[in-house]
Amino acid sequence: MVEISSQHQLSPSSWNRFEECPRKYWLSRQRLPRKASMPASLGNVIHNSMEEICNLDFTGHDDSEVGWLSKIMKKTIDKQWLIEKEIFLNTPRRPSWKSQSIGKAREGLVGALNLLFSKTKFAGKKFSEITIKDWNEIKSIVISNEESLISNDGRLIGRLDLLIDDLDEDGNSKGWIVADLKTGKPPNSILSEKVTRQLLFYRDLLKESKPNHPSVSAEGWYSSNQKIYSTDGDFVLDDAILAWNEMKLTIYPPESTPSEESCGFCEFKAWCPDWWLSRDKGHLSDKNTFRDEVVRIIKFDEISGAARFERQAPVDIHGELTSSDVSFGALIKGRALTQIKELISSDYEGPVFLGSVRSQGKIIHLGDWSEVLPWSPLLESKRKV
Ligand code: SF4
Repeated sequence: MVEISSQHQLSPSSWNRFEECPRKYWLSRQRLPRKASMPASLGNVIHNSMEEICNLDFTGHDDSEVGWLSKIMKKTIDKQWLIEKEIFLNTPRRPSWKSQSIGKAREGLVGALNLLFSKTKFAGKKFSEITIKDWNEIKSIVISNEESLISNDGRLIGRLDLLIDDLDEDGNSKGWIVADLKTGKPPNSILSEKVTRQLLFYRDLLKESKPNHPSVSAEGWYSSNQKIYSTDGDFVLDDAILAWNEMKLTIYPPESTPSEESCGFCEFKAWCPDWWLSRDKGHLSDKNTFRDEVVRIIKFDEISGAARFERQAPVDIHGELTSSDVSFGALIKGRALTQIKELISSDYEGPVFLGSVRSQGKIIHLGDWSEVLPWSPLLESKRKV
């Protein structure tokens, strides 16, 4: 039996987060309020629907039955959509739920199933013509789905979307395919370093946990363009263990590595002084249409949502701020308006982090897509080390 580390475990996503910026990873372990996003929820709906459909049991059904798959797909997506919506709406930090995106979830499931079909002789066959017998044959190549993997020492973990039996033209097994279902934007030509690392991690962890494996290849299955991207490379688990050693929780935050890529969608900016310092020094752009700000509220009219802010200039790495001669007007609506009202009524008077404001001329706009949070640089672990 594997003894699970009482400290921490490295998964492909935590490893990527750590490689992007060690401070981002450190902040992700501080139990800060979670943030939901529509792309992540869409991904969950597609993954969970695919898992549910792959696990359906058709024992007792007529082998020649057709027309059932499209119905089951719709029913499954609708069910998973409602489950995800509830989780999303109960997440403390979130934009508004986009009901119209259910079409994208349906398309994603179509893409994922077509990719699975492409590994069988049923490639390109219409869903309405798939019989129960066909489906059982398709499903027979799925060795496992959503399988949890863990290394012998318990330090490395991963959840594998699909383990597929790789068949040759005569239907004989050539080996296994570790398939990671991707619901985001496909790569232009080759897989990014991040995705490659993730796929090789799954490949090597699978080999370690199943010592009698045949040859194993790794693939990223992109549902949006229905394309499969293969990857190959050296063994990565030694690097993972090196990273694991550095990922131990420390009292003080590790060095950050601010960059457009790592800070772009970082959800921990309200707790990190470094991106703001970097931007002040001109290392990060302040010209994007959607940008973040750290401000002091000069004026706010809660009826109209009009406000005036003064940008707060960073003083040091501890998140200390000082006034600046930059000020701008703002129009605030939707969830951002609710958030700023709540902040003001809580008697909070400190600097404020504005996430994802849309700049238009001299005015900024905040709405359902934005965030208003107290500026709270976190300089010591909230968790016991
Ligand atoms: S905002 Fe940038 S520097 Fe700060 S934790 Fe996030 S990625 Fe790292």
